[in-house]
Amino acid sequence: MTKIERRTLLKTLGGFTLGGIIPLTGNAVSTNKQSANKIKTINTDILVVGGGTAGVIAAIQAARAGCSTILVENGSQLGGTTTTGGVSFPGLFHAWGKQIIRGIGWELVTETVKMDDAELPDFSIPTGRQHYKHQVRLNGYLYALLAEAKSLEAGVNIRYYETPVDARFDGNKWQVATMGKGTHTRIVCNQLIDCTGNAWVAALAGFDVLREKETQPGSLMFKIGGYDLDSLDFKMIRERYNEAVNKGRLVKEEFRNNIEGLLRSAGDNISHVAGADSTTSESGTITNINGRSSLLNTLRFLRELPGCEKTRLISMQPETGVRETYRIDGEYQISYDDYVTGKVFDDAVSYSFYPIDVHDKHGVVPKHLSEGIVPTIPLRALIPKKSQNFLVAGRCVSSDRLANSALRVQASCMGMGQAAGAAAALACNTKTTPLNIPIGQIKSMIADHGGIVP
Ligand SMILES: Cc1cc2nc3c(=O)[nH]c(=O)nc-3n(C[C@H](O)[C@H](O)[C@H](O)COP(=O)(O)OP(=O)(O)OC[C@H]3O[C@@H](n4cnc5c(N)ncnc54)[C@H](O)[C@@H]3O)c2cc1C
Repeated sequence: MTKIERRTLLKTLGGFTLGGIIPLTGNAVSTNKQSANKIKTINTDILVVGGGTAGVIAAIQAARAGCSTILVENGSQLGGTTTTGGVSFPGLFHAWGKQIIRGIGWELVTETVKMDDAELPDFSIPTGRQHYKHQVRLNGYLYALLAEAKSLEAGVNIRYYETPVDARFDGNKWQVATMGKGTHTRIVCNQLIDCTGNAWVAALAGFDVLREKETQPGSLMFKIGGYDLDSLDFKMIRERYNEAVNKGRLVKEEFRNNIEGLLRSAGDNISHVAGADSTTSESGTITNINGRSSLLNTLRFLRELPGCEKTRLISMQPETGVRETYRIDGEYQISYDDYVTGKVFDDAVSYSFYPIDVHDKHGVVPKHLSEGIVPTIPLRALIPKKSQNFLVAGRCVSSDRLANSALRVQASCMGMGQAAGAAAALACNTKTTPLNIPIGQIKSMIADHGGIVP
């Protein structure tokens, strides 16, 4: 395993020392303009694209298994929807009184809870239909710090602000061209893992991807305050809200037609951003502008209401969280029936547990699993059809829409991330493609690294 000390990494990122950029004399130094366009080639065993919920775990697993691992992330920190999206309440690691997902994701979650002096939910108390009670409320800032620190400790080479623009397989290795601020890189790798959440690398590589005509809305997470709930006249507020909706000043779907819910929850997971999509810079720009302009519009409205004049925006995430875009067309597509009957696949590499959870413009009505059901995820659902040396992990897992609405949750994404990292490491070490690895070997590696396998 190539372990890179944090200090060394920080000094050598980009091929020059950070100290070297600042002229000591204070005089300008002439530089070669062409150097910005120079393509740098880097070789690695495994390339993970997308350092979010699944990608961090995939990269740590691959690096801990002894493979040189690069993690390319277009944002500025790790954790994706868990951190930047502000959905810092991962679930579900437990089902019917038993832990079903552990491993590297669980390690990160529990260390975050411990360092924050917070508490885990009591998983022995059944939640009934209130499944969210077993989600772990996290300090997302701390999670981002720990995700980064643990990646570096494992030897993962993190490259922020970078995105792939081309991906080709030459029958033996993947060549992935990436662009970033002032960087143009060709990353040559043995195994490629797409954890972008949008199956972006799969599409770039020419594999089929699936998308619904209408996708679930996203949510911009924020916190508001500055009003006293007990003194608010909700009857009057609802009337004013309906009036504003009828006049076209507010769009009722943007806060689930529930102004009282917005005030009572003080933000969090309540906004709905129609058509939210983070696949490209253009769609991400529109999504973020729509989320923010809807919030600004609503804040202006709230501040005109008696009792809400001092409403304040306390915090807001830098990106709108996205629930659904593209998923791969994999060697196996997990169906709704597979999910709700808890089918145990021969090549199952992880469990998953969540209600079927499709948001639409009216909100969401979760459909709970029957007592005792624990769905599983087969390795084939992480592999695009007819691909080689290629895996995905996270919400772009091959599945039909209803199954995907449950599979997309964070504990499941973390489980998939660990499975993809392990399968890629074994395939790399034996110079083959993940489908050729005996499933028992993948399961053993996951278990050796703390995971639970079906
Ligand atoms: C509002 C909302 C509420 C939710 N509620 C819950 C809940 O209560 N409990 C729960 O467990 N789950 C919940 N989920 C679902 C869950 O959070 C996500 O489905 C899950 O985090 C997705 O993980 P991922 O790794 O697939 O993608 P992400 O975590 O989104 O990570 C993708 C990463 O890839 C990066 N990336 C994307 N494209 C590129 C590119 N082209 N180049 C480089 N990097 C790229 C992104 O910047 C990001 O860091 C919710 C989701 C949303 C949006």
